[in-house]
Order: sequence, then structure tokens, then C-alpha cells
Amino acid sequence: CRRNPGEPEFQQAAHEVLSSLAPVLAARPELAEPGLIERIAEPERQIIFRVPWQDDSGAPHVHRGFRVEFNSALGPYKGGLRFHPSLNLGIVKFLGFEQTFKNALTGFGIGGGKGGSDFDPRGRSDAEVMRFCQSFMTELHRHLGEHTDIPAGDIGVGSREIGYLFGQYRRITNRWESGTLTGKGRAWGGSELRPQATGYGAVLFLADMLTVRGESLDGRRVAVSGSGNVALHAIEKAQELGAHVLTASDSAGCVLDEKGIDLPLLKHLKEVERGRLHVYPHRRGTSARYVPGGRVWDVPADLALPCATQNELDAEAAATLVANGVKAVVEGANMPTTPGAVHVLQQAGVSFGPGKAANAGGVAASVLEMQQNATRQTWSRTQTAARLAAVMHRIHDTCYETADRFGAPGDYLTGANIAGFERLATGMLAQGLV
Ligand code: NDP
Repeated sequence: CRRNPGEPEFQQAAHEVLSSLAPVLAARPELAEPGLIERIAEPERQIIFRVPWQDDSGAPHVHRGFRVEFNSALGPYKGGLRFHPSLNLGIVKFLGFEQTFKNALTGFGIGGGKGGSDFDPRGRSDAEVMRFCQSFMTELHRHLGEHTDIPAGDIGVGSREIGYLFGQYRRITNRWESGTLTGKGRAWGGSELRPQATGYGAVLFLADMLTVRGESLDGRRVAVSGSGNVALHAIEKAQELGAHVLTASDSAGCVLDEKGIDLPLLKHLKEVERGRLHVYPHRRGTSARYVPGGRVWDVPADLALPCATQNELDAEAAATLVANGVKAVVEGANMPTTPGAVHVLQQAGVSFGPGKAANAGGVAASVLEMQQNATRQTWSRTQTAARLAAVMHRIHDTCYETADRFGAPGDYLTGANIAGFERLATGMLAQGLV
């Protein structure tokens, strides 16, 4: 804490991982080398820069850009860019730290990084977003490269923003390096299923957790939070597997739809109109209502998928979910469940799928995109779906078996942290004191 004052999210993420490592450090003393934990908790490099741009009226604005290159022991830095007014260095560091463990868990050769800006794209015209992205990339480009650092999207950064960022990168460098950014459009180097991968992957992970218990999603009532990229595709996959998804939310409130979320309507509102959620019940009819400031966790559900943002599910919300009979909670977002909430869920015997494992489908699909870029190939949707599913099953099994191996059967959080650590530590120790 003394080294990272004013960074509560980073302290929370680091504490959550480091406090679960005692069993592996005891069982594998070769990984308990002095100084290793300190190096794991310290980013390799942090870049902070000015992003000046002009709005449509000609008024100047200055935002702050970040890229935290956290750990490259396993491969080039890889992780998304977030554009949100709340973004600060502590949040980027927490995301980069989580990303490092997540990427280790995928089994691919990628390190961890994260970045973004306190710019808010909501309510901005396409031309304003383009000018902002161009200014952001004008500085960031010098730090990127397919063997160095490869960003993707996150909150506030979707295919529109990736397009503007890639265009500026290509213009400045005069190189078609498609492996430098992932989440590209299908027509210009993107992969099938990259937009869907995080949400789909989280539901595949949940399905595997249920299979272990001899259960499935079929007919289950599901509460999903958020209405962005991850939430929309989690809803889609859960519905495909027969679940009854009742909720969605944004930062202003939530929608409850007793008939089940009308996904084409919700997608149109969010992806085409870029509108707000409170419009949904007006178009949907009497089965739906919007609760300003409401939380999806108050709706009785068998399964819950927090897919919006960090610390959105606290201990009190977890107690409500438990009282309503929730069986499993799986994180589509990064660290949406507070430590107090995790404790409440685990004490109540609720299966908990941590984001660093459950939402790794996005980064896994980014690697599939990089593989296609490197070989100048494009894979079919079926082929890509099969690979994504295989990665998610592997991650699930790794967490499950690791938890078992270290005396914590069914504890996916411990399993994910230890499995990520084992791979990362092995790579770092082999490469010496760097
Ligand atoms: P989007 O920007 O597409 O959607 C974010 C959603 O969360 C929106 O509904 C937004 O509502 C809501 N939200 C954002 N901030 C807050 C807040 N402070 N309080 C309440 N609601 C909020 O982002 P993504 O769907 O891509 O990302 C969602 C989560 O998933 C993040 O934690 C991200 O780090 C994580 N993630 C994303 C991956 C990806 O591939 N995109 C990969 C792995 C993890 P509003 O519109 O009102 O802001």
C-alpha cells in the first residue's frame, strides 16, 4: 500500500491474488525466490501522456492517456484500452495486473498490459471520436508493435474506435502491421467472433462449472448486468443455451424483463442507436420495466453474470443473491465482485467464476486474430468457434484441477490465481533478474 498510495483498485487486485499463493509457495519452494513477488507486483513500464483534441465547435480539450506495460515474461504486452471518465493510473494498473494472470492462464505466449484515457466517447460525434483516437495514437504508436505491445478494446473502445486507432497507426508508421491491434473489423484483418468472444466465453465457462455439478443453463433464470459488448454477447450465448435472461443495466439503472430480454431490440438500441437503456421498456411493452438507479442483483435468479465494471457487486448485493437462491456467479467484467461479496458467496457454497479465467475468451480470440494475421489466413466462424470453445474448456479445467491439487476443491478463484502464478513465475525465474 505504501508503494501505491491512492490506488485502491490496484491494491485490491494485488491483494486478492497474492493472498491466495501461500499453498503454492509452500509446495513449490523453487517459486518462492526472494524479490519475485515484488517484481510481479511492479509494472515493467508506465506511460502517461497528454491527448489534446478539438471538438466539433472548435473548442480544445486535453485528456490523459495511459499505457501500463505490466509484464512481458510470457510474450508481448497484450490488453485492452479503456475510454471512460473514471479512468486513472490505479485502475489501469489493476487491469494490467489482472490481465497478466489472465493471459498466463490462456496458455498462449502473451504478456500483460492495459491502457486508455479519461476521455468519454458517450455523446460525442463520430468525427470527435476520430479526432480523439488520432491524437491518442499519435503518441501511443511509438510504444506499440506486434512483438512489443498489442492493444485491443475495453469499456468505451469498440470496433469504431479500433478502426480510427488502426488507421492512424498505419498512417504514421507507413506499415500494415495488422498484428499490432486486435478487435479489427472483419474486412480489414479482424477475426470472426472477436466481438462476441468475451461474453460467449464467460457463458461457456459457466456452462462447464454447471456440468461439473451435473447441471446446465437450460431453463435457468439469469441476471446479467451491463449492456455493452460483454453483456450483450453473454445474453446471446445464455439464451442460445436455453437460459431465461431477465435483466440488463447501464450506469443509470437497470431493466427487468419478465418475458426475457429481447436481444435484437437491446442490440439495436445499444449498437445502432448508441442510446440509453431507459428507452427499452417503451419499445418492448408491458413485460419490461426500467428502474432508475436500480441493481440487477435484486431480481431473483439462479445464475448471475456481472458484465459491466469493477466493484459493481458488493457484499450486500451478494447476500441478496444468496437469499434468492443463486447457484453460481461468473464474472464477465474485470473484478466486478468486491472481496466482501466473494466471501459471502463462497461461505454460502455458491460457485464463483473469477473474471481472470471466465472472461479470458476476449483475449483468447485476440490471439486467434493474431494467428490469422501472421499467416495471412481467415478462418471460418465454425473453425474459430471450435478453437475458442477449446481454450475456454482448457482454462476451466486448469482452474478446477489446480484448485483440487492445492486442497481447495471447487474454488476457481484459488485455482486461477495459482495456475496463472505458476506459469508466470516459471517464465520470470528462468529469465533472470530483469
Ligand atoms: P462497454 O463499454 O461495451 O460496456 C460497458 C457497460 O458497463 C455499459 O453498459 C456501461 O454503461 C456499463 N458501465 C460502465 N461503467 C460503469 C459504471 N461505473 N457503473 C455502472 N455501469 C457501468 O464495455 P465492455 O462490455 O467491453 O466491458 C465490460 C467489462 O468487461 C469491463 O470490466 C471490461 O474490462 C471487461 N472485459 C471486456 C473485454 C472485451 O473484450 N470487451 C474482455 C475482458 C473483460 P454506460 O453505457 O452507462 O456507461
